[in-house]
Amino acid sequence: MAMYIVSQECIACGDCEPVCPTNSIIEGKIVFEIDAETCTECEGDYNEPQCVAICEIPNCILPLKAA
Ligand code: SF4
Ligand code: SF4
Repeated sequence: MAMYIVSQECIACGDCEPVCPTNSIIEGKIVFEIDAETCTECEGDYNEPQCVAICEIPNCILPLKAA
């Protein structure tokens, strides 16, 4: 499973990028994006997704549900 950044909510502050243990957060053209191929939801590294913990915008980073 992976997380994703809600593009309408993200203010592109960049706070989440350095805290990701798998380097899955990248600066997109407008806002930041999470690579769903490499995001682990921080499993094995932390008890909770570090990007969610540091992001100041509510509901900006959410679990990616399988479509
Ligand atoms: S949940 Fe963890 S691994 Fe996934 S993008 Fe956020 S910080 Fe990186
Ligand atoms: S911390 Fe939140 S608002 Fe800031 S770049 Fe990351 S997802 Fe966007």
